[in-house]
Amino acid sequence: MKPFAYVKPLDVDEALRAAGPAVKFLGGGTNLVDLMREGIERAETLVDLTGLPLDEVDELPGGGLRIGALVRNSALAADRRVRARYPVLSQAVLAGASPQLRNMATVGGNLLQRTRCRYFYDQAHACNKREPGSGCDALGGFTRGHAVLGVSESCIAAHPSDMCVALAALDATVEVRSVRGTRRIPLADFHLLPGDTPQVETALADDELVTAVELPPAPVAANSRYRKVRDRASYAFALVSVAAALEVRDGTVTAARLALGGVATKPWRAYEAERVLVGGPATEEAFGRAAEAELAPATVRPGNAFKVDLARATIVATLRELA
Ligand code: SF4
Repeated sequence: MKPFAYVKPLDVDEALRAAGPAVKFLGGGTNLVDLMREGIERAETLVDLTGLPLDEVDELPGGGLRIGALVRNSALAADRRVRARYPVLSQAVLAGASPQLRNMATVGGNLLQRTRCRYFYDQAHACNKREPGSGCDALGGFTRGHAVLGVSESCIAAHPSDMCVALAALDATVEVRSVRGTRRIPLADFHLLPGDTPQVETALADDELVTAVELPPAPVAANSRYRKVRDRASYAFALVSVAAALEVRDGTVTAARLALGGVATKPWRAYEAERVLVGGPATEEAFGRAAEAELAPATVRPGNAFKVDLARATIVATLRELA
């Protein structure tokens, strides 16, 4: 591993003053440390955030929740308010990684985790995300885990997070701070499509720190579910995942939230499917039409074409259960 300086700030302001292009913030370290060992992430300075007062889940006026960036994934999943008001979020977090990793991993780190594309990790292969302009060996390679939505000719890597899929469905907002001030970024705008610059994955500037995630009140989320399909029962990334919330009155869908994971280059809010669902009948046929509308723009390759049918089936099954 390349040598680096280690800094342990006493408060958030000191951490912000240390920020910069060659600086990485350390939360749980469950992704960053692996990447630094492999020489894929390179930092001159590591700013250790552990111990800073960003590890609480607080009530927001009006019924939402504010989740500190250093809240551990296991604590978030166990929070009784999250479980009661946003069960899809608790289920999504519990669907990710292993208990040991969830005990270490933080909410802020989960937002910023890098892709698990095998070519990104293997430096013998070309990867535009790791080395901009070098090419993408996944395009003609093994694509079982790769995305079919939001892809470009530069990158087809799927976003790896489960938690972020639930946050997308819940209209979460990411609070970020720097010495320049505080701003709030809707989760839908926080992660970026790869386009021609797959190395730029988020709207976060070099000097900004994620300090919290805010959940607005969402009564529909009380009836919500996260369903993850993967190659083995635990500790595997999603082939397809669905975060859904549904409200049905007299057989008609009155509110719907839907987001997809495993199939897209960023946590994928399924706006088109929601448009089809709301105001329509809560039937399996209508759920299928909504899924097809969302998946119509999919760009598939031989290795991942199965994801379109799998996503349709998973969306229908999840909505049927909620209805
Ligand atoms: Fe790299 Fe993206 Fe291609 Fe994977 S899909 S090799 S991350 S450019």
